[in-house]
Amino acid sequence: ENALLDELAGWISQARRGVFFGGAGVSTDSGIPDFRSAAGLYAQRGEGDSPEYLLSHECLMYEPEKFYHLYKNELVHPEAKPNAAHEAVNTLVDRGHLSCVVTQNIDGLHQAAGTQKVFELHGSTARHYCVGPAAHEATLEQVMQAEGVPYCQQCGEMIRPDVVLYGEALDENMIEGSVTALAAADLVIVGGTSLNVYPAAGFLRYYQGDRLVLINAEPTAWDSRADLVIHGRLGQVLTAALERL
Ligand code: NAD
Repeated sequence: ENALLDELAGWISQARRGVFFGGAGVSTDSGIPDFRSAAGLYAQRGEGDSPEYLLSHECLMYEPEKFYHLYKNELVHPEAKPNAAHEAVNTLVDRGHLSCVVTQNIDGLHQAAGTQKVFELHGSTARHYCVGPAAHEATLEQVMQAEGVPYCQQCGEMIRPDVVLYGEALDENMIEGSVTALAAADLVIVGGTSLNVYPAAGFLRYYQGDRLVLINAEPTAWDSRADLVIHGRLGQVLTAALERL
């Protein structure tokens, strides 16, 4: 364990354009459940529609009340604060070891911790707009205050979150920015993701180097491809690595 942390700290101290690539496990210590671990949203749901359906483009369009029930009750966490993992990542960006963060999360907590260069592959619950031609913006407060499905105050069309749902494409600018950063990276730290969601997980293939680090509470499908694997809590591991710099 200590030898792994020493190695990680050594790689971090040499990195000048590293990338942190994260998922839902980055935010569990902020009180936001992930999807696929035992305490996650998927395991906690019983009978009925699958989470994949409820979080799909199809569900939003044809059964928006079902979508918004899950969205408002389980996905949006306005009270959540950044935790030790967000803070440690931000410190590494500040010190010039990491060039940016690529995240699958939609909670905005890296920005809340002070990190500005964040590629949000799956969008953010901080932004909403209407599906009408003008795409009028709406605030999270307006969405949460509306009873059931929120509608645009200007044109009456349904409001939707700026989040990538199952069945929807990723934003081109996010793809471009993430892939460019990963291709140029001299270190990639992957944390708190099961690496089950594609295309996001596939972006790691753009990294050319031999310092791919995986930090996760449990094994992932990519463990055998990584150069360093640490099984543990992300906040603790990154904090321990920072203390060694
Ligand atoms: P996932 O739920 O599939 O996997 C999370 C992984 O993190 C699990 O393997 C779990 O063991 C691990 N983990 C949990 N807490 C940890 C911790 N403190 N330290 C280390 N490891 C920890 O999540 P995913 O791979 O990101 O895919 C889920 C999808 O759902 C993503 O696309 C994401 O957009 C979305 N999502 C986002 C949030 C959020 O914004 N906070 C929360 C849930 C899901």
